[in-house]
Amino acid sequence: MSALAPRTPEGEDPGQAREVEGRRREVAGAFAADGALAGAIAGYRARPAQQEMALAVFDAIARRATLAAEAGTGTGKTLAYLVPAVLGGGKVLIAAGTKTLQDQIFDKDLPAVCRALSVRVDTAILKGRQNYLCRLRLERTASSGLLGSREEVQALGHLLQFARQSQTGDRAELAQVSDSASIWPAVTSTRDNCLGGECEHFENCFVVRARRRALAADIVVVNHHLLLADMALREETDSELLPNAQVVIVDEAHQLARIAAEFFGDDWSLQQVLELGADSLRVGLQEARDGAQWPELAHAIDMGARTVRLSLADGGRPARNRLAYETLAQGGRVPDAIAGLDRALAALQDAVSGNQGREAELDLLLPRVQRLRALMKTWHEKSAERNGSEELDVVRWVSASAHGAHFYATPLSCSEAFARAREQREQAWVFTSATLTTAQRFEPFLDELGLAGATALRWDSPFDFARQALLYLPAAMPNPQAEEFPELVAEAAWPVLQASRGRAFVLCSTLRAVPRVARRLQELMEAAGDRLSILVQGEANRRAMLGDFRRLGEAVLVGSVSFWEGIDVRGDALSVVVIDKLPFAPPDDPVVEARIRRMKALGRNPFREYQLPQAITLLRQGVGRLIRGDSDRGVLMILDERLLSRSYGKTILASLPAFSRTRSEAEACAFVERGGRRALSGPGAVPGFE
Ligand code: SF4
Repeated sequence: MSALAPRTPEGEDPGQAREVEGRRREVAGAFAADGALAGAIAGYRARPAQQEMALAVFDAIARRATLAAEAGTGTGKTLAYLVPAVLGGGKVLIAAGTKTLQDQIFDKDLPAVCRALSVRVDTAILKGRQNYLCRLRLERTASSGLLGSREEVQALGHLLQFARQSQTGDRAELAQVSDSASIWPAVTSTRDNCLGGECEHFENCFVVRARRRALAADIVVVNHHLLLADMALREETDSELLPNAQVVIVDEAHQLARIAAEFFGDDWSLQQVLELGADSLRVGLQEARDGAQWPELAHAIDMGARTVRLSLADGGRPARNRLAYETLAQGGRVPDAIAGLDRALAALQDAVSGNQGREAELDLLLPRVQRLRALMKTWHEKSAERNGSEELDVVRWVSASAHGAHFYATPLSCSEAFARAREQREQAWVFTSATLTTAQRFEPFLDELGLAGATALRWDSPFDFARQALLYLPAAMPNPQAEEFPELVAEAAWPVLQASRGRAFVLCSTLRAVPRVARRLQELMEAAGDRLSILVQGEANRRAMLGDFRRLGEAVLVGSVSFWEGIDVRGDALSVVVIDKLPFAPPDDPVVEARIRRMKALGRNPFREYQLPQAITLLRQGVGRLIRGDSDRGVLMILDERLLSRSYGKTILASLPAFSRTRSEAEACAFVERGGRRALSGPGAVPGFE
């Protein structure tokens, strides 16, 4: 289907106007009760909000305009943008926030829409290059004999077979090697270590083939990172990663500003350093054994990285943390440790310089080590300057974990950079999510991305929240300042969890509180002679925990706010969500702290304009997990009395769907008892809970 020419109010060609009107009618017709979707998609129900959104998306496409579209859970927003994307014609990019959504759109939704509309469209999916097996690195790793463990040797066997059989090389298709397996960096590529046109596997390369398919396709499903990478590449150079699209649709758009902030900044990590050390050892021994003392050089890099990691934990700092440079620099060893690591990298740089021209992969080590050293130097020097200056636009910070550390220079606003990158071409942009607004206002979202002038529309969820969901604020809230607050949270939640037979998430505002809440729940359960399963964040990975939660049925999952987003537990399995505190980002987080400082300096109100909208978005995401279908029912229990005592509590309540509300434990318990169908009082009808 050909692309619609951009439609302008003036000088519109009558033939073109008729074509646009014809396609617009087709879009509307597809969503009718007897339309194309109803005839082809099992269980399809015509929903007015979905049809309205589809027409708004179509109009944005026809006018090459920008639309921000918030569609509550159950609106069916994916079909609402896919139908006009397919019927509008031309090249379309669809950017999802998660791989799960990306796969779902490409494997299920898009083919279903094309079938329903009887339209043939060339579609492709493109992920970041680290998702595809690199044939060259796989081959060289296999012949190096340097794999460290039995697991890695076993994984290598699966990978070699996969490389022979797979059409795509997409690691998501290989179930036998887990996503967290340590072998992946050795068998996938980065921009820095790919040989490109000089590679002997270039024509058969999985990454190259996926990119070629994407460049040729009409509709390409990507993720936020790739979209941003393409925008940056076009701004910096004349090259491109993705096809020239007339339409860009960003799903899960509430995440985009956060990812863009990371993206428009600089970063380096100890993982990158270790991978460089491992690659130089392998390539050096394979290609220039006589050229340098490769094992010693790699060992010095390992030791340097280890010293940096240890220096981050100086002075009793927790092993896992997000730390501002200022905090690290005070009397610590971090600057010396980074200087030591740089010396080890400088020695490697000398060695690879002395062996230039012997082999292509060896040659690539030089720009790689140079770039890494330059990033480290800039990060360190600018951080030290920042320590005494009034620089307000960038925050330099470290995310430390038990095994590594990632160093960031994050811009505090990406609105200008994003707006500039968007200006380059005349495109239609659609930003959509279930959570773009704060108390029905789009401004915080539009401001963050510099989307001035965009059309902003919202559609409420079609679910009957007053009937399906209950917001429960206990009459007696635990004191958040109390030393035993986590235990009090468990005690307040226990009667509801008992009534619901588990089927609940208990979400704590800090990771530290998680084991304490879980322990107290366990004690209460044992005292009551109950047999619910308590799953605790940190005892298994997230995917395994969710698998157990679904499989076990009567389970309580205790975790932190990372369980709010990207989780889809349908039906009865999740019937209660308990939140200990409103999900405000910790004000001492380096990025949050720097953004607050910057907004204050600009005379703005950081709480109203930044912290509150962020918390509301997260809370609304969490609420979105609870009710996923017309027949779902659930209780949202919040143990934070600020919802009632502070003026902003009203803004938060106004941002939530129109739940029924209660302060009565008995009513909450009755609501979630299996089979319980008590009539509810409706939103705002409970005394003290307006
Ligand atoms: S072209 Fe790059 S990604 Fe592809 S096989 Fe070669 S090195 Fe690996």
